[in-house]
Amino acid sequence: MDGAGCEAVRSTCPYCGVGCGVLLTPDGAGGLDVRGDPDHPANRGRLCSKGSALGETVGLGQRLLAPQIGGQEVDWDTALDTVAERFSETIARHGPDSVAFYVSGQLLTEDYYVANKLMKGFIGSANIDTNSRLCMASTVAGHKRAFGTDTVPGTYEDLEEADLVVLVGSNLAWCHPVLYQRVLAERKKRGTKIVVIDPRRTASCDGADMHLALQPGSDVALFNRLLVEIDRAGALDHSYLTHTQGLEAALEQAALDDDAVTGLDAAQIAEFCRLWIGTEKVVTIFSQGVNQSSSGSDKVNAILNCHLATGRVGKPGSGPLSVTGQPNAMGGREVGGLSNMLACHLDLENADHRAAVRDFWAAPFVPDRPGLKAVDMFRAVGNGRIKALWIIHTNPAVSMPDADAVRDAIAACPFTVVSDITAATDTARLADVLLPTSAWAEKDGTVTNSDRTISRQRAILPAPGATRPDWEILAEVGCRMGWREAFDYQSPVEIFREYAALSGIAGRFGRDFDISGLQDLGAEGYAALAPTRWPVSASRQGGRFFAEGGFYHADGKARILPVSWRAPAARTAPRYPFVLNTGRTRDQWHTMTRTALSPRLSAHLAEPFVEIHPQDARALGIGPADLVTLDSPQGKAILRARITDAVQPGQVFAPMHWTGETAPSARIDALVAAVTDPVSGQPESKASVVRVTRL
Ligand code: SF4
Repeated sequence: MDGAGCEAVRSTCPYCGVGCGVLLTPDGAGGLDVRGDPDHPANRGRLCSKGSALGETVGLGQRLLAPQIGGQEVDWDTALDTVAERFSETIARHGPDSVAFYVSGQLLTEDYYVANKLMKGFIGSANIDTNSRLCMASTVAGHKRAFGTDTVPGTYEDLEEADLVVLVGSNLAWCHPVLYQRVLAERKKRGTKIVVIDPRRTASCDGADMHLALQPGSDVALFNRLLVEIDRAGALDHSYLTHTQGLEAALEQAALDDDAVTGLDAAQIAEFCRLWIGTEKVVTIFSQGVNQSSSGSDKVNAILNCHLATGRVGKPGSGPLSVTGQPNAMGGREVGGLSNMLACHLDLENADHRAAVRDFWAAPFVPDRPGLKAVDMFRAVGNGRIKALWIIHTNPAVSMPDADAVRDAIAACPFTVVSDITAATDTARLADVLLPTSAWAEKDGTVTNSDRTISRQRAILPAPGATRPDWEILAEVGCRMGWREAFDYQSPVEIFREYAALSGIAGRFGRDFDISGLQDLGAEGYAALAPTRWPVSASRQGGRFFAEGGFYHADGKARILPVSWRAPAARTAPRYPFVLNTGRTRDQWHTMTRTALSPRLSAHLAEPFVEIHPQDARALGIGPADLVTLDSPQGKAILRARITDAVQPGQVFAPMHWTGETAPSARIDALVAAVTDPVSGQPESKASVVRVTRL
């Protein structure tokens, strides 16, 4: 209940990584009234268009309400036995690495924890990856390389204290709107400067002082230039540098990069460097434009290098801030939902960490090598190495790069299970077994947002039909595969307590993620849990990391890494002369499973489109609203032309939301090459090459 004692229930928005608190009240007609929670630290009552329209999306029109096998409704016992038997048989015949889970940042932490425990502890493979691989994997890799752990040093409050906010590859105004509102409010009050670094002029530029429209993929060259200028200006923080190593090599490497590859003029670059160096309190926010790149990890480290060199890390108003795309991308990272991580920021490659997790779970074994990352996982499905696949709350037949190939691979997989709230997705249509799950507002658990704040999602609506929460479905399969003792959970609070206790072991190994202070929460304490920023341990509560060093490499020092610019993997050529950038629109979410249910949201940009520069449109004879075909080496799409100088000549932009269900000719990820960052495995979704022709 909210503080006023009325019927509202506090919960968390299920869309982006801002993690806004919401107050939910039944509207008496099966729906919900949704307001921003004034007491939640992420949003303090604010909501964006998507969050405000949540109440319009809880109808049951498209819900999957009963398990299905081969399109026929079955009871839960039949469905769960089938899943458990087919996975067990496949493992017995072909080994644990012949099966895989592909999960989602939409899962609650408790769901994620059980999925990870089942795969890594009991099935004995690390073949569990998540759609967060498409979202934040480069940041995870960059954080680990620099800090020794995947730690977000700062907090959202830094946005109120910063004098300069730099947005790199982030259309914050559309993709994390409430954070953008927080920055704009400060700008109004105190004149906070805003710089946007993005090849495209986005809505975030409307409130900005400077827009650097750099060439796609050239961020490393820009931040290397900044590092060199920091040194030249005498702005290195020598005291803080005692907490780091590697500056000299990084500077040498940075000096070799030619900033001309950014396409920016020298005066613009000089002005940006002057502003960044001359402003003590700088927050650099980065998102998918940085991460979704074949050099994403290096981009992240190029940004972190500048903050480390100036000691602008973890201090009020100062630091790098990665903003996650999904509501629980952070929770997934914390429970080890990526195929190369263990739970609680413990390392798969570390024998002591593996042994501790194995003992804690009383598991038969924990794999000693990473599993398949998303792109490789679906390649392995395609070539027959993966013979049983469980996809949970994500739509890879639309959202993976080279989506047509992924769709065909799933269709050919001998056994595919899909857990979702609807059967009306491209991926669900390919499932052998469909498992109906509880939706947002029907289930209980926790999520972690981009500044490490753990918040509760709470059930207020009854679970319709035969739907069940994901943790329960996963645990049931674990029990039926023979591991009842490990998976006999009765409630999400039991799972949360176990997870918090495991984090205490991570804390004893000196890891950053420690919420052992919550391991004794009872049902009431869990029910009432207020938003809480981790760590939560006997020695540490919330706050920022690294203001005084204390990094997680063995020597306690951060790494300033030498990085150098690399061009995107795909090169334009006469056959494919345009660079295709993909991204979100303001009012749609992922593959529109939920947001398309709101007429208000769908009215914003009602049909798939591609932005083309006027100069290119003229050369191709394309007029406003003409239908055009985009061809890439991977696939094809038909879209409505929007002629705008928001994109640069030679570049086009198309949203990634539409699906085979909503617009079969506009599955944009069918055009995106399955090229990945060699360190993070994150696909390059922002720089494919295409041909554009008028239909
Ligand atoms: Fe939801 Fe993100 Fe909007 Fe907040 S900013 S209401 S979390 S979509």
